[in-house]
Amino acid sequence: EAKAQGLGVQVWQPAPDTASATDMLLLAELRGAGERGELRLRYQPQCEAATGRLRGLEALVRWQHPRLGLLSPASFVELAERTDTIVDLTDWVLAEAARQCRAWRDQGLDLEVSVNVSTRVLHGGALVPQLRSVLAEHGLPPSALRLEITETTVLRRPERAALVLGQLRELGVAVSVDDFGTGYTSLAMLSELPLDELKLDARFVSGLLTRPADAAIATSVLELAHRLGLVTVAEGVEDEETAEELRRIGYDTLQGYLFAPPLDPAALPLWLRAREAA
Ligand code: C2E
Ligand code: CA
Ligand code: CA
Ligand code: CA
Repeated sequence: EAKAQGLGVQVWQPAPDTASATDMLLLAELRGAGERGELRLRYQPQCEAATGRLRGLEALVRWQHPRLGLLSPASFVELAERTDTIVDLTDWVLAEAARQCRAWRDQGLDLEVSVNVSTRVLHGGALVPQLRSVLAEHGLPPSALRLEITETTVLRRPERAALVLGQLRELGVAVSVDDFGTGYTSLAMLSELPLDELKLDARFVSGLLTRPADAAIATSVLELAHRLGLVTVAEGVEDEETAEELRRIGYDTLQGYLFAPPLDPAALPLWLRAREAA
């Protein structure tokens, strides 16, 4: 463009849809982060709505960056998802979650760990063999791990998703649809896919008591899920009034700051003891 203006100057500008130089650097650093021991998992409790009993935990990744400090997934997961780096990241997460799950089981804590799986990973060919080997390596039953995929992952390539979900069902690893209610999954698709759980998106939880539209969505998602035989989880539960309303509607499992933030695994025994005492 500059040339066309006759200035003879060319300023390099990345196209709006490509990564910035900072992003490129971060992505390059992320590639070896697992091997360098810079990745961490935090675990957020998922509690049975009726009893408060700990059902399982969601593994949420963090990156202890040598210069930038502790990074939340918002600053690197989306970046990783643009390339195969997300595959390596998920490999690390699955292996670490399985190792931790084994350690808890050895301490007598029979917990399920949910792992977030991006579109590229679900649709790539390596997930099922990877899961099989990680379960075998740690002597875990398939029910020890659960995968969270988003609605868009299913929607983008429904046939491919159906194939992989079928293999996961055969393997015995449960699948949860994360951020549910934000996409436009058809009823037909939901009923045909081998799914186990629907996770109502946090936005409907936060508006439950104040926005009638959010309450309507929370209720219809619950009815739909239960008719299809799916377990229901509400995430982002921050206060007791909202938890009470979710219990009244019939949600099976609750997750959010009201119960616990994502915890360092070392803090879990303490959290459990504090709850028993309460
Ligand atoms: P998500 O899967 O929807 O996870 C829920 C997010 O909500 C987490 O943020 C969690 O810390 C936060 N949260 C939990 N309770 C509350 C609450 O009561 N109120 C509010 N306002 N927020 C709450 P986090 O850990 O920053 O993760 C953000 C997103 O990054 C996740 O959203 C997930 O999409 C992605 N992510 C995290 N770990 C992984 C991973 O290992 N692999 C992949 N592919 N994505 C990941
Ligand atoms: Ca999730
Ligand atoms: Ca979610
Ligand atoms: Ca989300």
